[in-house]
Formats: sequence, structure tokens, C-alpha cells
Amino acid sequence: MIELQLKPREEARIKAGHLWVYRDELVEVPEADAGSLARVRTYDGTSLGTGFYNPISKIAVRMLGAEVEVADDAFFTRRFRQAQALRERVLPGESAYRVVFGEADLMSGLIVDRYNKVFVIQMLAAGMDIRIDAIIAAIRAVFPDVEGIIEKNTMQTRVKEGIEMREGVVWGSVGESVDIKENGILLRIDLIGGQKTGYFLDQKMNRRTVGALSHGKRVLDCFCNVGGFALNAAMGGAAEAVGIDSSTAAVEAATRNAELNGFTNARFEKANVFDDLRARIAREEQWDIIVLDPPSFAKARSAIKGALAGYAELNRTAMKLLSTNGILVTASCTQLVPESTLMDIMYREAARLRKRLRLLHRGEQAPDHPILLAMPETQYLKFLVFDVIDA
Ligand code: SAH
Repeated sequence: MIELQLKPREEARIKAGHLWVYRDELVEVPEADAGSLARVRTYDGTSLGTGFYNPISKIAVRMLGAEVEVADDAFFTRRFRQAQALRERVLPGESAYRVVFGEADLMSGLIVDRYNKVFVIQMLAAGMDIRIDAIIAAIRAVFPDVEGIIEKNTMQTRVKEGIEMREGVVWGSVGESVDIKENGILLRIDLIGGQKTGYFLDQKMNRRTVGALSHGKRVLDCFCNVGGFALNAAMGGAAEAVGIDSSTAAVEAATRNAELNGFTNARFEKANVFDDLRARIAREEQWDIIVLDPPSFAKARSAIKGALAGYAELNRTAMKLLSTNGILVTASCTQLVPESTLMDIMYREAARLRKRLRLLHRGEQAPDHPILLAMPETQYLKFLVFDVIDA
């Protein structure tokens, strides 16, 4: 066990439950293998618990939330059982959900998604990366009917941790696609190969909200990926649901998903949403509900300004396309853009168009992505539903 000492008065955040110790908060950054277990002490020597140490990362220690002496198969199996128990309470009977959401499950740097009998793991930190065997063992122990495990370790954060990019099947076997059911809708998801699309599990509850508003409505789902919101709208009895995405694979998968469910009121088109919305304004189209669920526009602080401009443009164009009493559903998964900032943008853009917005509902990531209050970093998804009326 490596011993680390915090500089004077650096312990408050960790004591309050935050799980990251930054490199510049340590008195010394000793040489050690990336991912080694370390005990963190205050300057005065009181132990604050243990975590995985990475001397090359800006996040020097990822605390494990308790005195963990050995991080072996049994440790991961215990933590996985706790994580799974929460999902069984909050999302009983689901076939696809996030089993482990990093810090919120006291496993900083680890993401595990379940797609029926196939599991996708992502390690964002060295401490998790070097323990892949224990992670696989835990999945097999907690989910005895697992058929295959895929690693999708291609996130940029791995570079900062000094670990390589890797992708592929790490245990068992995985077919070309996997079928899951969400909100009563059958979805065929490609997890492997060039056409892979995955699925955005965090919008599960928000899709239900859109489904419930859609009866008899014309719904435009922008950034539809494999059809999530549009399919829920179709299921909810939409007169017509149209999804747009720039990815050919996503549009093909979405079309296939509509067919699998026998939906004749949903269709999908490949286009760049920014251009497509402008073209629809030129054609004087009108929609009852527009969903905007763009990808993250800013992963780094330097990109925030551009992200805000992107949200402003998208929401402004969508407001122009809404029929009287239309509903604008706007989401943001950019962690660096807080809800209050998104609200300001909405307010400003509506005022420019002489429209009023009434907030009907606000949502967030589904409860299999719980928010750890001590770590604001775990809250990232904003989801707002507005009634748009003329001022
Ligand atoms: N709404 C989806 C998730 C959206 S993820 C769901 O419910 O599952 C973001 C999607 O935006 C991705 O599928 C990506 O292919 C698409 N995308 C990114 N930039 C785009 C653009 N400029 N125009 C259209 N689609 C885009």
C-alpha cells in the first residue's frame, strides 16, 4: 500500500465525499505503478481512506469510498452486487441499463452497461484498467447468464491516464446485434463491428415523457440515433414521427427498429440537423413536438462558447418550426453547461422571436445513472420540456 499525504487544509472536499484527489494537492507524488492501491492521509496523518493511484494523471487518486485493503475479485463482486441491487430497486425488470456508473457506484473510472446478456465495459482510469480480470470475474459472478463482454476503451481520457485505446470482445462471444426492450419497444442494437451504434441508456425516462405527450401529434426527433425518442412517440400514438441523424448506421438501425415493432408512423432520414432544420423552415413546415438531443458540444472548457452558440441556434430554429402550442423538448449532455445556462439561452432565444416559454417538465439522467451529490461531475444530462406560445 502506497502512503500519500495531502498538503495542509486540502482534506475538506474529500472528507465531504468527493472521490478525486488532484495531483497538486499532494505533498509528494511518489513513483509507483499506475493503478496501485494507495492510502490518503491528511497533512496531520489521519487516514481518509484508500483509492487507486496514478502518478501521471491530474487526478492522482480515485478514492474507493472506504478503507479497501485489497481490490480483488471478491471486492469487485461485492461492489457489483450493491450496484445491481440499486438497479433492481429503481428499474426492475429492465433488460438494458447502466450497471455501474463510476463514482456514483464508488467505482471511479468504471462504466458497465448491460444489454441483455451482453455487457459493455469502459475503463477511464488506470486503476480500473489493470483490474480488468477482476471486473470480468465480478460480472460473471453477479450475472451468471452473461454471454459476452465487450470493452469499449476508446475515450480520450485514457490518454491522460497513460493507458492505450482498446476495443473488442474480452470474454465469451457476442453476436452481430443484441435485442433489448425499452419502454415496451424492441430495439436491435449493434455493439460490434463497423456499424456499431450502442444505445443511450440515460434517456430512458425522458423518452417515456415524450411518448406520453405524442398521441395524435407530429413529432420531429433531431439527433435520433437508433430512434429512441421517435420510436417512443410512435408507440405513444403519434400521427407521424420523423427522426433525423447524420449517421448512416444510426438511421438504418432506427428504420429497422421501427419495422421490428410494426410502426408505420415512424420514419428516419439521414441529414445534418442544422442544415435540415433550416430547409424545413424554408419549406414552411410545422411540427407539434420537436426533440433536440444533440451530442455533447463541449468536452473541454475551451469549447464552451461554441457549445452555447450551437444550443442557441438549434433551439431558435426549432422554435420557428413549432405549431401554435407546440412543445419543444431540449436536452444537453454537455457536463460543462449547467441547467441554468441552458435556461438562459432558451429564455433569450424565445424573447428574440417574441415567444413565451412555459416549462412543463424537467428531467435528467435515468436513475441507473445516479447523481452523487458530493460530486457535481456525476450530473450531466439536462432535459427540459417547454410549451411554446406567441408573446
Ligand atoms: N436521441 C438519441 C441520442 C442522441 S446521441 C437517443 O435517444 O438515443 C447524438 C446523435 O447525434 C448521434 O447519433 C450522432 O450520430 C448524431 N449527430 C451528431 N451531429 C449531428 C448533426 N450535425 N446532425 C445530425 N445528427 C448528428
